Amino acid sequence: MIVMKFGGSSVRDAERIECVSEIIRQHLARHPVIVVSALGSTTNNLIAAGKAALQGRVDLTTIKQHHLKTAQDLGLSVTEIEPLFEDLENLLKGICLLDELSPKTLDHLVSFGERLAAIIVAAYLTMCKIPAKPFNAWELGVITNSTFGDAEISPESYDHIAAALGSLKQCYDFTPVVTGFIAKDKNGAITTFGRGGSDLTASLLGAALKVEEIQVWKDVDGILTTDPKIVTAARPVLEISFEEASELAYFGAKVLHPLSMQPAMNSNIRVRVKNSYNPGHPGTIISGDPQQNGLVKAITCKRNVTLIDIVSSRMLGQYGFLASLFQVFAKHQISVDMVATSEISVSLTLNQEQALDAVLAELGAFSRVNLGRGKAILGIVGNIKRSSEILDGTFNILHAHGINVQMISQGASKVNIGLIVEDSEVELCVKELHRYFFEDQRIAA
Ligand code: ASP
Ligand code: MG
Repeated sequence: MIVMKFGGSSVRDAERIECVSEIIRQHLARHPVIVVSALGSTTNNLIAAGKAALQGRVDLTTIKQHHLKTAQDLGLSVTEIEPLFEDLENLLKGICLLDELSPKTLDHLVSFGERLAAIIVAAYLTMCKIPAKPFNAWELGVITNSTFGDAEISPESYDHIAAALGSLKQCYDFTPVVTGFIAKDKNGAITTFGRGGSDLTASLLGAALKVEEIQVWKDVDGILTTDPKIVTAARPVLEISFEEASELAYFGAKVLHPLSMQPAMNSNIRVRVKNSYNPGHPGTIISGDPQQNGLVKAITCKRNVTLIDIVSSRMLGQYGFLASLFQVFAKHQISVDMVATSEISVSLTLNQEQALDAVLAELGAFSRVNLGRGKAILGIVGNIKRSSEILDGTFNILHAHGINVQMISQGASKVNIGLIVEDSEVELCVKELHRYFFEDQRIAA
């Protein structure tokens, strides 16, 4: 059994859904469970429709037309999706009347995208003689807490899913097509995993069903060595570990939802990132034990970061100083990205500015605080056993370009080296480091 997840651009329109169904047909022998995202930019369109309803305008034309056209282009009858438009219209009217679009209502609103997608894809597969059934994830027992917009999986979901779908291994007469991204809480309210959350659904189903592989089908050839918008020579990484992939996702590589790998990683199930626009490409394999171990796997950058430097002589020989310092951030629910400490100072980075003034005031009560805006984190993910070699190459390149590193962090067992530079210099850094580690043949080997 495998899980195959298709993202929004893979099921954008009729033509793409035809390609996807061909890809599914080629994998039928492996008993795929399909997970789908909303068609193309439907999630954005639903959010826009919600905001318009708040302004007094109920209009679902764009969303309705796109889905009707896709269904018609595929030769499907539209009777199955029509009732959803009625529900959607009623919801938009409700938002308009009540002048309310809470995170709870927003989750309900965006859920229509994945629900429509599952119905259309399942109907088309069935028409192509691949009998399929659409499922809302909650029908398979995907339960979350009630943090709307960023819900967390409840542990009992694993058993529910295994009970609901596990038996399919024996009696396999249809292909399940499951909505990604959405779930329900214990009270039956619809929740979502946050933008890009369909990857998490795929990873969850894969772990619950103990599948042999989770395939995440995107519109790029896998995880790339760096952002192709900065370096056109960026190329796919063939193999990568779960830790490396999560560092990459966290430090700005947009290929995977940062938390989405966790269920797969905990169950040690291989994840393969593939391109539905180029299915012949092997893509990237993410696993617990990658066979290929080059020097550097990828270079990322996270832009627009704020650096805070906290200096206090009270830190000398004191215990509890770091605890009281992080308490301030915890109290204001600000998550800290990178941290480096010396005997009398702590430097850390944040990528959000909310509540910053209050934080600065509280920190100011017991330390001297310097704030630096407009920084970037340059992330180098690679083979920790060769860290000196990585750092040597990196610093030579940066020095040659007159770039000063303002903070460094490298964990003892971690594969990620984080360097803070000026945001205005980070593109140059990425280009030059990519050239050095990936384009220069001597190094890449
Ligand atoms: N449709 C949702 C989004 O656009 C979830 C996903 O694509 O994974 O964020
Ligand atoms: Mg999407």
